[in-house]
Amino acid sequence: MDIHEYQAKEILAKFGVAVPQGGLAYSPEQAAYRARELGGSRWIVKAQVHAGGRGKAGGVKLCNSEHEIQDATNDMFGRKLITHQTGPEGKGIYRVYVENAVDFNREIYLGFVLDRTSQRVMIVASSEGGMEIEEISAKKPESIVRSTVEPAVGLQEFQAREIAFALRIPAALTQQMVRTLTGCYRAFRELDATMVEINPLVITADNRILALDAKMTFDGNALFRHPHVSELRDKSQEDPREARAADRGLAYIGLTGNIGCIVNGAGLAMATMDTIKLAGGEPANFLDIGGGATPERVAKAFRLVMSDENVQAILVNIFAGINRCDWVAEGVVQALTANPVDVPVIVRLAGTNVEAGQKILATSGLPIIRANSLMEAAERAVTAWRNDQKQNTKMRAI
Ligand code: GDP
Ligand code: MN
Repeated sequence: MDIHEYQAKEILAKFGVAVPQGGLAYSPEQAAYRARELGGSRWIVKAQVHAGGRGKAGGVKLCNSEHEIQDATNDMFGRKLITHQTGPEGKGIYRVYVENAVDFNREIYLGFVLDRTSQRVMIVASSEGGMEIEEISAKKPESIVRSTVEPAVGLQEFQAREIAFALRIPAALTQQMVRTLTGCYRAFRELDATMVEINPLVITADNRILALDAKMTFDGNALFRHPHVSELRDKSQEDPREARAADRGLAYIGLTGNIGCIVNGAGLAMATMDTIKLAGGEPANFLDIGGGATPERVAKAFRLVMSDENVQAILVNIFAGINRCDWVAEGVVQALTANPVDVPVIVRLAGTNVEAGQKILATSGLPIIRANSLMEAAERAVTAWRNDQKQNTKMRAI
């Protein structure tokens, strides 16, 4: 689960990381009021959306008066911010964060991630902050410092100092840098985060280390242990399809293709997406309907997949182990009878009672396209989708 920048800053501040003074606003008037509260004469107004790259997309504005703040936020509120991380549909701006502007001499990149190879928390840092990490690793790979933390002892001071030296932090600021690094690490571990990123971490003109931006992501499976974190969930920033799926207990990830997938098991769901691509198509989603594919669950899954208007064919791929193919086939037939869909449906069943399942599909009278192997199913789905497209083009031509 992602949270907003201002929330991440509030959390990190509690762990000893220095952040600028700021105030949250839900309207242009409130934003101007926040600036007055903060005092000073220059402010940064920042759109709060769950995505980076806001600076380049017009979501971060330097303002010199309350009037400028009103103008800048008038443009932001209610609009969608499209950054290279949001996808073409963008993310709605409903909150802005107003901070005192800070003068700085250096920008540093600092990230804490889970390194799956070493199975440890890895600190990734670079003296080339301000740029996105992908850009740094492409343009200045030699500037990147990596360090993994031994979980039994946590981040040690000497290790944090080594990182500070590698980043050429001035000696007088080493202690502040150590405090920043250990604060982030503790926040990461104690709150079950999967990512903490500060970009940029700056050295201010008056020689302080300050986190100008902050991003945190949390392990959704550990949220039950952190009610204060799970309260920070903002559904306005989530893909509505995924939010709906989570509410229905299905694991769904929306993608941009047009072949909808209904699969049991995460591994099989991924294999199905790969095979669709291999056959020349693009999957519209990842969907794991879980173990028991009851008619209700299958019907829910069809409704969810069909709520994506880009879907032009549906591939159902079920491997029945504990499950039984005849029950699943029953589920598919019931779901399609109750809620007919207007796109081709391809079903591949394998495992327990597969013959009985095939028979139910064949005698249902529904226009279900059957397949025996995954490859065959993917090819049929791609062909059905292409034929459907051709027909639609013809209809439009008429
Ligand atoms: P992002 O683009 O979504 O990562 O948003 P950031 O919070 O990183 O802001 C983008 C850029 O705005 C930063 O890289 C800074 O260069 C600049 N910026 C942010 N806050 C301040 C500030 O207080 N003073 C100055 N001078 N620049 C700032
Ligand atoms: Mn940033």
